[in-house]
Amino acid sequence: MAIRDDQTLRGRCLCGSVMFEVTGPPQIVAHCHCDDCQRLTGAGHSTGAMYSVSRFKLIGTIREHRLTSNAGNTVTRGFCPGCGSPIFGRNSGMEGYITISLGTFDDSSMFEPAVVIFARNRRPWDAMDDSLPTFESQPTWRPERGA
Ligand SMILES: [Zn+2]
Ligand SMILES: [Zn+2]
Repeated sequence: MAIRDDQTLRGRCLCGSVMFEVTGPPQIVAHCHCDDCQRLTGAGHSTGAMYSVSRFKLIGTIREHRLTSNAGNTVTRGFCPGCGSPIFGRNSGMEGYITISLGTFDDSSMFEPAVVIFARNRRPWDAMDDSLPTFESQPTWRPERGA
């Protein structure tokens, strides 16, 4: 991945009242086909870049929606209260990390998705790159600590 460790990447919601900055490359970029992501995005999947929260800076006021996942974790979705753009998600099972919606970056062209998750929920019309490692649900993968 061609993102430098000291590189600052910026993004914003549709109306521009919520902005953010992150520094460096993400832990991982994943496509998620879970039912919640389909409802949240209104599309066939979400694509998110996972970062340590210490690398993330929010500018503006976010609204949060919380729910309990099938695995029993608290999932928090952060979105712009003005335009509804989904900015990030957090999961209590992955404390200290935040997953940022890739489409909200000003330039997301250098990110490389590494994995497809919740493939069992994928709709037939949402074709995906067959060459990517694909998991039927949430893999047991965990980010390296201390990143
Ligand atoms: Zn907005
Ligand atoms: Zn999902």
